[in-house]
Amino acid sequence: MADLLALSGEILETGHSEGPINRITHELSEISDEIAIVEAFSHSIVFRTDDGLVVFDTSGIPSGDRVVKAIRGWNDVDRFNSLVYTHGHIDHVGGCGAFLADVERRSDPRPEIIAHENVPARFDRYDLTNGYNLVINSRQFRGFIKKGYGIGGKDNHFLPKTTRKPDTTYRTRLERTIGGLEIEFHHARGETDDHTWAWIPEHRAICAGDFFIWNFPNAGNPQKVQRYPREWAAAMRAMAGQGAELFLPAHGLPIAGRDRIRGVLLEVAETLETLVADTLALMNEGARLNDIIHSVKVDPERLERPYLKPLYDEPEFVVRNIWRMYGGWYDGNPAHLKPARDADLARELAELSGGVQNLAERAKKLAASGDLRLACHLVELATLAEPGNKAVHAIRAEIYQLRREAESSLMAKGIFGYASAESLDAAGEEDPYRD
Ligand SMILES: [Zn+2]
Repeated sequence: MADLLALSGEILETGHSEGPINRITHELSEISDEIAIVEAFSHSIVFRTDDGLVVFDTSGIPSGDRVVKAIRGWNDVDRFNSLVYTHGHIDHVGGCGAFLADVERRSDPRPEIIAHENVPARFDRYDLTNGYNLVINSRQFRGFIKKGYGIGGKDNHFLPKTTRKPDTTYRTRLERTIGGLEIEFHHARGETDDHTWAWIPEHRAICAGDFFIWNFPNAGNPQKVQRYPREWAAAMRAMAGQGAELFLPAHGLPIAGRDRIRGVLLEVAETLETLVADTLALMNEGARLNDIIHSVKVDPERLERPYLKPLYDEPEFVVRNIWRMYGGWYDGNPAHLKPARDADLARELAELSGGVQNLAERAKKLAASGDLRLACHLVELATLAEPGNKAVHAIRAEIYQLRREAESSLMAKGIFGYASAESLDAAGEEDPYRD
């Protein structure tokens, strides 16, 4: 059994990690006699009570069975009393079916599922946007469908059909005593509008859901609905004020120690607050979105912290989300208000450049000199102007592959990698990432 608290302690002391912090081992580690974590995507955090187990998050559908098996290897006596969805993302609710199958196998009474009141609304939205969610997740996470998130064929379901809606929902705060264990559920907006963090006084513990992910906060995700950076920071401050001795996030390692917990929470809060303040200051001066994303930055030293690295999301995307939250979709460039078709503009520029080949060649030169942002614009114009041109697609594939390699965040890598694969396909070359 891994000593997760020692591991996180060492990482926070030294400021760096030898191995991955988000470990998807499907193994259970005991934090105390009454608390255990199964590390998966997401984790399940289990509390033993006098009347069965309370589990925070059910993990995703590909992990559910292994997570339940790991829990049963630790405790095969107690029933699942309650399942808590810290929010409705499928890596937290998708494993529900595996828990319910265990309940049925043991002929236990059905557990109560507890979540914020926006979780069922999210599930309804997933039904409305099922195809969109499958598309964007296969861009963000390569091989998404192959990994078991979709069922396959026409019946692809983003939200697994075995995931049950919560039985009990609340709006701002809920206090419950389950098998003698007092739990305070607190709602706050952050990564989502349906998030719960919980305070468990007996253990002086916080279950944080995705408010803390050992990565730069996922507050900018380019393909997802609104995130709430300012509210996220406020939630971090509220958690920092609890005096927790044990901090249990749904991804990455748990953290022990009052000062250490407070320190990391306040630093994440401050980072988000500064991003919001800097972005709003420029918005208030009337700046365009494009100017703002090129001028608002996070102190690079902060981005080196083991819990603020931009490996999943990144500050530039958060700036866009702040714009979207407080502004409209209009970016301040009047040509973008009612734009020409992309393909029409591309053909016009291709003609001015003396043909798409010139645009593509120039793109290649820019890429070679390291200006990948400009290179992508030019090669995109070239393919839009002549979508059937295989030579241009081959260049596009190469440039987006370079771009993918140069980026740090999974979100940028996913989208650029997908674009590269698209062009490999169009160029008639082998697509190594095809689902
Ligand atoms: Zn998550």
